Amino acid sequence: FEHVKREDPEIYEFMEKELKRQQSHIELIASENFVSEAVMEAMGSHLTNKYAEGVPGARYYGGCVFVDEVERIARERAKALFGADHANVQPHSGAQANTAVYFAVLEPGDLVLGMRLDQGGHLTHGSKVNLSGKYFNFISYGVSPDSETIDYEELERLIVQKKPKLVVVGASSYPRAIDFERISEVCKANDALMMVDMAHIAGLVAAGLHQNPVPYADFVTTTTHKTLRGPRGGLILCKEEFAEKIDKAVFPGIQGGPLMHIIAGKAVAFKEAASPEFTEYQKQIIKNAKALCNALTDKGFRIVSGGTDNHLMLVDVSAVGLTGKEADDILGSVNITANKNAIPYDKQKPTVTSGVRVGTPAVTTRGMKEEDMSVIADAFEAALIKKDLELAKEKVAYLTKKYPLYE
Ligand code: PLP
Repeated sequence: FEHVKREDPEIYEFMEKELKRQQSHIELIASENFVSEAVMEAMGSHLTNKYAEGVPGARYYGGCVFVDEVERIARERAKALFGADHANVQPHSGAQANTAVYFAVLEPGDLVLGMRLDQGGHLTHGSKVNLSGKYFNFISYGVSPDSETIDYEELERLIVQKKPKLVVVGASSYPRAIDFERISEVCKANDALMMVDMAHIAGLVAAGLHQNPVPYADFVTTTTHKTLRGPRGGLILCKEEFAEKIDKAVFPGIQGGPLMHIIAGKAVAFKEAASPEFTEYQKQIIKNAKALCNALTDKGFRIVSGGTDNHLMLVDVSAVGLTGKEADDILGSVNITANKNAIPYDKQKPTVTSGVRVGTPAVTTRGMKEEDMSVIADAFEAALIKKDLELAKEKVAYLTKKYPLYE
């Protein structure tokens, strides 16, 4: 960052510190990842200078001939990657992608069914503090108390009895595979539209390691920066019949000009995601999640639902006498970054919680394998059970040195 260093040393200082933090910490936040240098270059490029309101070939500004090609390629790659009829690559984030779908097909006050926030859903799936919950009438489904997995019977009963206009499927902290096909059958039989927010699992879906929601749902939204390992942003996939509505909902509905530098980064990430190496990477994410799950269970932690099918797990730290907040703070002090998270039917307040959400996408990008997951579990044990913070830090330092980042 030579130019920033020279022109703005104040910002440079914190950019450098943040780089060192990323390099020296074990990143277990399930929604984070490390993009490739190629994605980073596209994002940090002169494409940021271009205004391109509209869609390729129909813009409100001149000079779009080359960014049109960039956006066309991004759209085609997204469609091919997920087998979709139509792709809109303009949403600035996952929240924007979801809001655009709501804006395209709902009227204020319409009934919508989504997953409970405290059992895995996202804020944009009907939380009272989010536009979704303020403008639309969201009701929710959750997981069953025994299995801690989605209660499909309750979900189906709610669709049949309440007749929501839209059913929102997908989650931020759900460790199990979701049966999109099963839910879509009930939606179809009851004239409900279906949206799947696959933000967390998009990389697994791209690699064919999780059921693809595209054939079953009317709309599929995602972020591009989680398991998919692209730039921070959103994406909407839909059936051809909704293509125009979706494009109009994004612009001029809820956004202004698209971020062409980010769209270029998305295009690069979609190309990467179509490669055999990416499939291997996604397989390793799942292997690592299972290995970490088993290793943590062996140490005495309880894993919600007893395991994981994807890239994340919820660790119930009440089993070792801690709250989620305490565990989060202690892990932070030994350079492990995770986040406190409610577990289903949590007895603690949302600001305290009984759980920690742990994901393997970022450590897998660094090159870590199953044997390294036991070292992470050792660090958890040292920090949270033995309270030997020095030992935990040594384990972290061993791994971060073994797997350098951005050097
Ligand atoms: N949808 C899900 C399932 C998410 O987990 C998230 C973010 O964590 C979002 C949407 C929102 O994405 P963004 O932060 O890009 O708005």
